[in-house]
Amino acid sequence: MKVIAVLNQKGGAGKTTLATHLATALRLTGHTVLLIDSDPQGSARDWAAVRDDHPLSVVGMDRPTIERDLKSIAPVDFVIIDGAPQAADLAVSAIKASDFILIPVQPSPYDIWATSDLVELVKQRIEITDGKLQAVFVVSRAITGTNIGKEISGILAGYELPVLETKIHQRVDYPGTAATGSTILEDFPKSEGAKEVLELTNEILSLMS
Ligand code: ADP
Ligand code: MG
Repeated sequence: MKVIAVLNQKGGAGKTTLATHLATALRLTGHTVLLIDSDPQGSARDWAAVRDDHPLSVVGMDRPTIERDLKSIAPVDFVIIDGAPQAADLAVSAIKASDFILIPVQPSPYDIWATSDLVELVKQRIEITDGKLQAVFVVSRAITGTNIGKEISGILAGYELPVLETKIHQRVDYPGTAATGSTILEDFPKSEGAKEVLELTNEILSLMS
């Protein structure tokens, strides 16, 4: 069982969007998946509740005991943790439970600077685990047709965590499909959005293997 957490204290970074899409991509490619909603606001649970008999299992674990609580679930291939905003204890608990951490950041200096506390916690954990824990940034909500810019790349590089090659772009279909408890992958399987989500999933899987 591999545990991937999507973390960033900043609300609006795209955690829930990424977590629901990554979990769905893994489900559609034949893996068993559980999505853990660690946000007390329950966005991922709300998303799943829109559809009767949602094909993805989503459970809430919004107390800082995720590492322990995960021991009591039936094993699956992948657990995806949708991170909570501004909750140091919840973030620490999710970090401890994880094999891989995905930090979505919007391509803006303010958004990248706002991750510094999280990056520190993650780096400490990488050291404690002797590098067993992996962590990467993913550029989220990028504007199609624009480069993220050398300045932004430079700031990201200063944090010394790898940045995924695949970016998630700003697309109306992300919130549009969420409204029906669905994803771009299911509703628009041939779209550029579906393509980037599958590429992102493959990039993560190849880093984990
Ligand atoms: P977080 O979980 O980090 O708070 P969300 O995934 O809930 O972030 O995203 C915040 C808002 O931005 C939501 O309304 C969501 O639908 C929208 N959003 C997130 N990612 C994208 C994207 N790639 N393109 C368009 N809208 C997005
Ligand atoms: Mg969220």
